[in-house]
Amino acid sequence: MLSVVVPIYNEEENISAFHTAIRSVMESMEEHWEVIYVNDGSRDKSLSLLVEIQQRDPRVSVVEFSRNFGHQAALTAGLQIAKGDAIMLMDGDFQDPPEVLPRMVKAWQDGAKVVIAERSSRADTGLRGKLFPLFYKVMGLISDFPIPLNAGIFGLLDRQAADAIINLSEGNRYLPGLRAWVGFPTAIVYYERAGRAAGEAKQTLPKLFKYAMDAIFSFSYKPLRLGMVLGGIVLAFTLFLSLVNLGNTMFHLKYFGIIPGAGHIGTLLAILFLGSVQLICTGLLGEYIGRIYDEVRRRPLYLVHKLHQSEAEGVLVYKTEKVLAAVQDSAA
Ligand code: UDP
Ligand code: MG
Repeated sequence: MLSVVVPIYNEEENISAFHTAIRSVMESMEEHWEVIYVNDGSRDKSLSLLVEIQQRDPRVSVVEFSRNFGHQAALTAGLQIAKGDAIMLMDGDFQDPPEVLPRMVKAWQDGAKVVIAERSSRADTGLRGKLFPLFYKVMGLISDFPIPLNAGIFGLLDRQAADAIINLSEGNRYLPGLRAWVGFPTAIVYYERAGRAAGEAKQTLPKLFKYAMDAIFSFSYKPLRLGMVLGGIVLAFTLFLSLVNLGNTMFHLKYFGIIPGAGHIGTLLAILFLGSVQLICTGLLGEYIGRIYDEVRRRPLYLVHKLHQSEAEGVLVYKTEKVLAAVQDSAA
């Protein structure tokens, strides 16, 4: 069986066309299939449209979150609920074209455990079009192991890889990174990334910024080292100036413009410079500490209000006895 997981946040303009497209693509393949829509606290008609689709088609499940928990939480919920032997993750705005799914399934049948859909082009324009490549460049420089660039969440996970990702306990989830981290034989399919079919981008820039920070801080220690490097540079510079100053004072010289006994401006600049270096480093530390705090609190990634499924309905709270049990297992 194949599962398709689609996070939905205020996509009322896209849902009907999207489901029609998905259905015809899935029906063109021979396997059984299911689609899981995760309604991430939409405030428009998305939920009622989805439930309507679900009532007509038993292959559709709708997970209804209690509020908006974000793209990555929605994908994680879908992964945890999906029953398929292979699970495909994709956005519900047609930016991830449904026609690519059969190619991913083919790659999976040929033996890949992870299939990554990599963009050969990107339709984003303006500030987003500039920021995405910048982010991928920084990420490429900084991450402690290679994460495929130009790939988002669009892709396929074999059951084995999906279970591995589900069992990773971290709450700050950057799925493209986690997917690279678990490894397994990986295939890449290329596709042209389209523009969004209708509506505004739901991942607003602040959300994308948070996502980028999660990506950087959960996959690299390098920012922490930056503090040491900056400290080292400032220390070397300070030692140099002290020596010059000592020499100037002893021999009544004026090398490097340092006049003995003068320099309010110099003092002020030094204080400001060091102050800002220290604030930057404290901020970097804070990013890690905040994430540690998130992890120790172990709040659920999301809460489910209702699971609309052909056989089950009720109030369910996920997260994951399974995850906790796995963590205890590995600790034991
Ligand atoms: N989405 C979500 N929760 C959010 C924001 C977005 O479930 O808080 C969904 C959205 O409905 C879409 C997908 O995630 O199906 C990707 O969102 P978007 O197209 O805005 O992101 P982008 O293409 O800019 O990365
Ligand atoms: Mg989009």
